[in-house]
Amino acid sequence: MTDEELDKYFHDKYTARGIIHEPPTPLSDKERVRMHEKANLRLAETGLSYLNDPANGDAKYELVNPIAGRFFISCNPRPRGITHSNFEAKLKNDPEAEVQLFFLEIVGKAPGLEKVTCCCSLGRSGSKAAATGLHGCRVCSKINHPKRMRFITH
Ligand SMILES: [Zn+2]
Repeated sequence: MTDEELDKYFHDKYTARGIIHEPPTPLSDKERVRMHEKANLRLAETGLSYLNDPANGDAKYELVNPIAGRFFISCNPRPRGITHSNFEAKLKNDPEAEVQLFFLEIVGKAPGLEKVTCCCSLGRSGSKAAATGLHGCRVCSKINHPKRMRFITH
């Protein structure tokens, strides 16, 4: 797939409202990696928009590193798509600001139809305190979750 075709596939995949079709030819390993990177960046940007929304506080953040995300279907209390992700961000315009690890949960998949249900800092990235683990999430394997049950589980 060319870069343009991959971008189009990614766009279609994330704007589809229904069944998401696989590409006509299977993605190569390299294309798969790029897709994951794009998806993780999109999640981190969603989290950042949420944090920077004046309705959610005065602090303004900038993205440091989109880390990872995991999409799953929760049947609790009804079937819906959930994504859990981690990303790193720090306060804008503050050279002394420490990099924080954030947890993001969104419900839904299509841009504009998804809803942020949790977006919170877990603490300084790389710190023992931020390595909070799964905290009851039975779907994710490498994503750190908030200590309290503030997120939707399987
Ligand atoms: Zn999870």
